Formats: sequence, C-alpha cells, structure tokens
Amino acid sequence: MNEIWVFAEQRDGKLESVALELLSKGRDLAAKSGYALAAVLLSENGEALAPELFAHGASKVYALDDPRFAYFQNDWWTDAFVSLVRDKAPEIVLVGATTNGRSLAPTAAAILHCGLTADCTQLDFDTEKKLLLQTRPAFGGNIMATITCADTRPQMATVRPNVFKKERLDGAPAGELVRVPAGLDGAACRMKRVAFVPDAGEDVNLAGAQAVVSGGRGVGSAENFALVRDLAAQLGAAVGASRAATDAGWVSPLRQIGQTGRTVCPKLYVAVGISGAIQHLAGMQSSETIVAINKDPDAPIFDVADFGLVGDLNEIVPELSRQLAARRA
Ligand SMILES: Cc1cc2nc3c(=O)[nH]c(=O)nc-3n(C[C@H](O)[C@H](O)[C@H](O)COP(=O)(O)OP(=O)(O)OC[C@H]3O[C@@H](n4cnc5c(N)ncnc54)[C@H](O)[C@@H]3O)c2cc1C
Repeated sequence: MNEIWVFAEQRDGKLESVALELLSKGRDLAAKSGYALAAVLLSENGEALAPELFAHGASKVYALDDPRFAYFQNDWWTDAFVSLVRDKAPEIVLVGATTNGRSLAPTAAAILHCGLTADCTQLDFDTEKKLLLQTRPAFGGNIMATITCADTRPQMATVRPNVFKKERLDGAPAGELVRVPAGLDGAACRMKRVAFVPDAGEDVNLAGAQAVVSGGRGVGSAENFALVRDLAAQLGAAVGASRAATDAGWVSPLRQIGQTGRTVCPKLYVAVGISGAIQHLAGMQSSETIVAINKDPDAPIFDVADFGLVGDLNEIVPELSRQLAARRA
C-alpha cells in the first residue's frame, strides 16, 4: 500500500509531541512521494485523539482501541502494530525515538525482517528511486550518512523529539478514521507494570523550552557559567551546554545538547563560546532563530546562525544581560 505511517504514540491518553512533529515532516514526504500520510494510534479511545492527528496532516488514522493500550507494554503493542503492518503493507513507517518508540520500533523491525535507521536527524525522499533518504550521524558522529533501504519493506526510521517542527494545518481538517480490531486474542505479554516512577533527576526544563542559552568550552570555567545563567534568566530561557562544558563538570550532563545529549527546537537558541561541531548541531540546528557568540569569525556555528556576534563572550554576554535587564526595568 502506498502509505507513509507515523506511529502516534500516546501516554495517559495524550499524544506525544514527536508524533505531531513526524506528521508535519510526513506531509513533505507525502507531497514528494505521492503516498498517503496515515497515523497509527494504539489507545483506549482513538476517536478522541484522531482530530489532533488530522490537524497535523494525517489523511487517515488507523485506530486500535483496547484497554491493553492504556500504557505501553512492548509485547502487546508490537504484536498489534506488526499485524497491521503485515496486513496493510505501508511503504514507510516513522516512529518517535522516545523510550517506548525505541523499544517498539526495533522489536517490530526484527519481527518484520526489515531495516531500521535509528535517530535520524533528517528525512527526504528520492523521487527517482522511490526511496526514503534517512540521514543520521555515523562513525562516531564524524560524518553524516544517508541510508536507504532498497530491498525490504517497510522502510523504517526513528527520529528523536524536537528534530522537526510541529506544524498544525489551518482550520479543522477532516480525515478517515479506520477502526481496526486490536487482534490480541490470546496474545501473551511477558511484562507487568508494577508502578510508574517519574525520573527524579534534576529538572532541566529543556524539552519544551521556548528559549535556550547554551555555554561551551569558551566559557572557561564552572564559575564563569554564571554569565550564561544570567543571560538565560533575563531571557526566561533554559540553560544548555556543549559536551565540552558538561565533560569538564561545569554543568550537569542532563543539560548537554547534541547527538549524545538532548535535542531541542526552541524559538531562540543562543550559543555562547560553542564552536558548532556537527555533534552539537545535531541537537539544535532546527531551532527557529540561532544567535552565536564566538571570538573566532570562522567558527562553524556561524554557518547555522541567523545572528552572529564576533568577540569576547566575557564582554558581550554581561552587556547583553545588562541591556535586557534595563529594558525589562
Ligand atoms: C560520538 C560523539 C558524540 C558527541 N556528542 C556531542 C553532543 O551531544 N553534544 C556536543 O556538544 N558535543 C558532542 N560531541 C563533542 C563535539 O565533537 C565537540 O567536541 C564539542 O561539541 C565541542 O564543544 P565546544 O564547542 O564547547 O568546544 P570547542 O570546540 O573547544 O569550542 C569552543 C569555542 O569557544 C570559542 N571561544 C573561546 N573563548 C572565547 C571567548 N572568550 N569568547 C568567545 N568565544 C570564545 C572558541 O572560538 C571556540 O569556537 C561528541 C563527539 C563525539 C565523537
């Protein structure tokens, strides 16, 4: 079937943002490929969530309703998902690289004997060869590799949250709601949820932040990171860091942005004393507006920046904070 599927993960009856981000990107792939864009929703009440999926570009929602889909259980969810893939044979399947998606997608790919490209940072479509172009860092993050899956179907990829922008269509677009039986009769589940314990780690507040100010090696020391924090406070922004800064112990590793850290997509990203290594860019380059402060005019961060300030961060950052504070006053 000529369809692109997005796995519409829900938790506690609420759609994960990455599902809507993938639908938004899926619209572009659907336009290039001529395939239809559909969402697959495993939940207790698909009808309630379907309008949000239509609003982000799904022309069809396959809704599998069952109490066993109240929360993620790999065996049941994968069983139902794989059966539907076998039945409908979509061309492309996209899954958010959440904790649950990182469990479901490889299990499904192994059962289906198809490939899976994990943690893609870009997706495109080769209209001549009719193949999904799946780009991700490779060889220790030193190159970006574009991977295709020529021989098996579906072509499967996972994408981390915040890599693509979520874009709602105007109005209240309608689509086709296709109810599918869960088909779990007699299916075993080797897991039992005992309790849900949220991560008690430091609340770094990065995931949904509208603005992020990140510091890198150029900041120079843990003490000097106060400059980054002050600027973030003036902007109402979350504090991020490059790996060089977290490795140096200046800030918590939970704040690391990049390929092996978090992916963010704020309206404003300010990079302070960060060179712009490819692994750092992988975690922030889809930010709406990027401001870079660096003393080296040839630093690669300026290639992705919308605004660049060339100079010593020890002079520029306090001055920015001062002017912002004055403006607020
Ligand atoms: C497998 C792998 C995964 C990785 N994952 C990540 C990741 O997730 N996130 C990540 O960030 N990195 C990651 N890295 C590391 C990455 O390659 C870079 O080493 C790192 O991003 C560099 O951090 P930086 O830009 O802070 O430091 P540097 O590259 O050392 O840059 C410091 C910058 O500060 C500027 N500077 C210095 N002093 C001043 C000053 N006074 N005023 C203004 N500017 C100044 C310099 O001009 C320079 O551009 C990974 C590497 C590998 C191999």
